[in-house]
Amino acid sequence: MATLSEAIGGTLFNRIPGFSLDLYLFPGVEYRVPEMSKNESLTPETVKFYEATTDVIVPRRCIDGRADPDSKLGPQMPGGSILPALLVSIYTDTALDEGSLVRDFQKLTQNRYGLGIHTDTHKHGDASGCGFADNLIKIVKTAQGKEAEIKEIVLGLDSGIDSELLGTILATAFIKIGKFDVSKIKLSGDLLIGVAVDLGSNEEVLVGEHEEQAVFINFKEGVTFHTNMANEAGTPAFNLDYWAVSEDAGVLGVNDNNFKLGATLALAVATEMVLVEQKGKSRLPIYVNK
Ligand SMILES: [Zn+2]
Repeated sequence: MATLSEAIGGTLFNRIPGFSLDLYLFPGVEYRVPEMSKNESLTPETVKFYEATTDVIVPRRCIDGRADPDSKLGPQMPGGSILPALLVSIYTDTALDEGSLVRDFQKLTQNRYGLGIHTDTHKHGDASGCGFADNLIKIVKTAQGKEAEIKEIVLGLDSGIDSELLGTILATAFIKIGKFDVSKIKLSGDLLIGVAVDLGSNEEVLVGEHEEQAVFINFKEGVTFHTNMANEAGTPAFNLDYWAVSEDAGVLGVNDNNFKLGATLALAVATEMVLVEQKGKSRLPIYVNK
């Protein structure tokens, strides 16, 4: 099992004398979330990280907390295989269009990396049912417009990463995010999902409503969130498997570990802002699984 330092590019941490990430690894912890109960007193509720083993060959899933009863439980990232393609565009300052998707998805397929996206049972119009795919431009714009707030949120996570180092990681990512012209995003919504399906992506069809209670960021390699089990337990959550993002983006030539991690975290927080807070719901707690 890889440690967090390996997952995000070990050499980074070896340069810091006396700093060992392994000290921060507590597998199998349960995360306690304070919530107001019906009688208004503060009682802890448990949002558990239900682990499922997975692999890079299993089709990607979105971070969406809703279940697909037939899910193959592949690694999760915003929009499934859409996120690595977006990271390439931002990193190289080039268009996200049909041509770039053909190029990137072919590379992933050649590496036997599983492609995946999703819709849902009540999609309509130009919307695909995937909030990330439908709001791609809005999410990047939110990351650009809320840089300070996003940095504060990420620096406040129990990530086990030295805060000075994490500051550098975020700064590296925001240089490229800030410079990226969102008009380079040529595809979103139903069109984007359609192209992804044509290129061989597995399609999950998610059921039910958004009732996520937390956001997990998982660094534990070979592991993902058992979305169906969490739904059965009544504690659905968003989950992002960073180790798999790092793999996919690496295959696509995004090899700057600082950019990869910083941009993924920034876009994940921006996604929560757009899909949860901008829809009038309260900010969800973010927990790191490592
Ligand atoms: Zn989605």
